[in-house]
Amino acid sequence: MQKLPEDLASLVSFLKKLPGVGARTAERFAFEFIAWPSADLAALADLLRELPEKVPPCATCGCLTDKGKCPFCANPERDSEQLCIISSPRDAFAIEATHSYRGRYHVIEHLLSPLDGRHASELRLDRIEEQIRKHAVRELIVAFDSTLEGDTTALYLKKHLGSQAGLNISRLAFGLPVGSSLEYIDGGTLTRALAGRQSF
Ligand SMILES: [Zn+2]
Repeated sequence: MQKLPEDLASLVSFLKKLPGVGARTAERFAFEFIAWPSADLAALADLLRELPEKVPPCATCGCLTDKGKCPFCANPERDSEQLCIISSPRDAFAIEATHSYRGRYHVIEHLLSPLDGRHASELRLDRIEEQIRKHAVRELIVAFDSTLEGDTTALYLKKHLGSQAGLNISRLAFGLPVGSSLEYIDGGTLTRALAGRQSF
């Protein structure tokens, strides 16, 4: 089989780094780019190059912002007694879309994953503690993925911050997807749903 020209192949390998993009899709995207007008390609290249500088993390909470202080830290109407710990700035937008949270956020850089060499020192617990002190936080909401890494990190936070007086630590409930039927739910999800049952 004829190999792709070198630059096209390296574009494909960049695109393959995107979540959910396999070799075939990456190749399709790469050929699509080749067909774009060069002005569009240049605009995209500029945008990508300047992205880290133009949309940096908020110095206080780590959420992404193009305005210095992020909209959550800058808004005095947000409830500063609630702090939601997330593992990606993207999660703040997902939670905001629910319109059911009015507190502030704190982004940790990584979930704990000892196997990948991501250890507790990278969590910067001191920064979370500073937020708790500064804003007299009363509730810490841990909103991590339902994965081994998410569980490990949540437990670590609970262990190290849980003894603070007047601080309640909660974690998102994991349960049945809305509209789901029990027979199609996998065992792990059902176990969690059972463990997190609520009286009604
Ligand atoms: Zn912020």
